[in-house]
Amino acid sequence: MDCLFCKIIAGEIPSAKVYENEWVYAFRDIQPQAPVHVLIVPKVHICCADAINAENSATVAKIFEAIPEIAKSEGLTNGYRVITNCGEDGCQSVKHLHFHVLGGKKLSETMA
Ligand code: AMP
Repeated sequence: MDCLFCKIIAGEIPSAKVYENEWVYAFRDIQPQAPVHVLIVPKVHICCADAINAENSATVAKIFEAIPEIAKSEGLTNGYRVITNCGEDGCQSVKHLHFHVLGGKKLSETMA
């Protein structure tokens, strides 16, 4: 499968890893939009939020269990934002489910 994030997880493309466990891989966004901008992805390929179902939601839960650990290690003590873009209207550019964790400053109040 020709998937950028699958290649990053496999180590075929370099990334700045910040966290990894059996289910989850997290790395710095190459074009950060905040002082801290981390992408968290499931190791199994799920294309997007629209493909989350009863079969794979346990993996997604692992992502949300990892987020507080990552936020803590990144020093996001005053809060942060978690975003996933889905499909064309959501402007998803990489078709492997990922959650952006943004923080390190007061973020914009607008989201759309
Ligand atoms: P999205 O637009 O929600 O699909 O987000 C994809 C994100 O992946 C963007 O914020 C990109 O900057 C980021 N990105 C693309 N290629 C890489 C890469 N090789 N390493 C790290 N982040 C990347």
